[in-house]
Amino acid sequence: MDLKKFAQDKEILITGGAGFLGSYLCEAFIEASAKVTCLDNFASGLASNVDSLKDNKNFTFVEHDISKPIYFENKFDLVMHMASRASPFEFDKYPIQILKANTLGIWVALGIAKKHGARFVYTSTSEVYGNPDPKFVPTPETYNGNVNPIGPRGCYDESKRAGEAFVVAYRHQHGIDTRMARIFNTYGPRMRADDIYGRALPRFIDQAQKGEDITVFGDGSQTRSFTYVTDQVEGLLRLAAMDEAAGAVINIGNNKETSILELAEMIKKLTNSTSKITFHPLPEDDPLRRCPDISRAKKILDWTPKVPLEEGLKGIIEWFR
Ligand code: UDP
Repeated sequence: MDLKKFAQDKEILITGGAGFLGSYLCEAFIEASAKVTCLDNFASGLASNVDSLKDNKNFTFVEHDISKPIYFENKFDLVMHMASRASPFEFDKYPIQILKANTLGIWVALGIAKKHGARFVYTSTSEVYGNPDPKFVPTPETYNGNVNPIGPRGCYDESKRAGEAFVVAYRHQHGIDTRMARIFNTYGPRMRADDIYGRALPRFIDQAQKGEDITVFGDGSQTRSFTYVTDQVEGLLRLAAMDEAAGAVINIGNNKETSILELAEMIKKLTNSTSKITFHPLPEDDPLRRCPDISRAKKILDWTPKVPLEEGLKGIIEWFR
């Protein structure tokens, strides 16, 4: 994939552009000579993530909550809707903002794409599969999921699912060129510092480095598939740039399934930590297995993850220090 060929002189809007993944996309598109408008309300994004771009003449920052209408003079060629809090500890704290970003927010973002005749990319999530039936793990995009709309994850899972329905509706009714990624657990530098209160991977690193107990929920046999940020960003860029991806929904994640206990042990070893691993109740509706079938990403995007977990963990542990 030749990103420069696609991006040169294009006008790109990235909602949630100051977020963990959004900021890497802003950088990649600027590097490929595009003009980037980064929209963020700092709900979970950080100005420091796009600090290196602020003086670039091709970069514009707009502070705005995408769940409220906004009008642009620019003629966008591509809109990427990345905005949404995504960390499980926020499902309890900010369920309404999450619902709004993924319903009203995507409606506003799709409206911008429609007005400008822009290509539209939506970053959906593996959470649309909820707690998948083990018969469907590794999970293909054709699996419709097993989601509890009124459980603690309902605000995120159901609004992300509604977001997908919005995309399909705009494609169908207005003929927009749309694509969707279902992103699996992604980690790397620029994960939010306050994710140490939520997500297992940064929390375990923080606990291990401080010599505190590493808090495994349940017996730690539940699994996730951890994707390093460079792999995730490469997948998203391909999804945005490649004509072959038009209309598709594609899992982007590492297909190596790891149990949470294995993750805790690996982090303890890599940080030479004296921490104890302790066991705590499993939260309600915690998915027991999560692993993508990535045949579609391989076929359409010619994409496979390259960074093994141990190597990626070394990268993020260093960054944490
Ligand atoms: N988890 C854990 N200990 C913690 C935080 C999370 O064992 O201190 C578990 C959590 O219950 C889940 C897995 O780790 O089974 C991944 O959780 P995370 O919050 O990272 O994201 P999720 O993939 O559930 O959205």
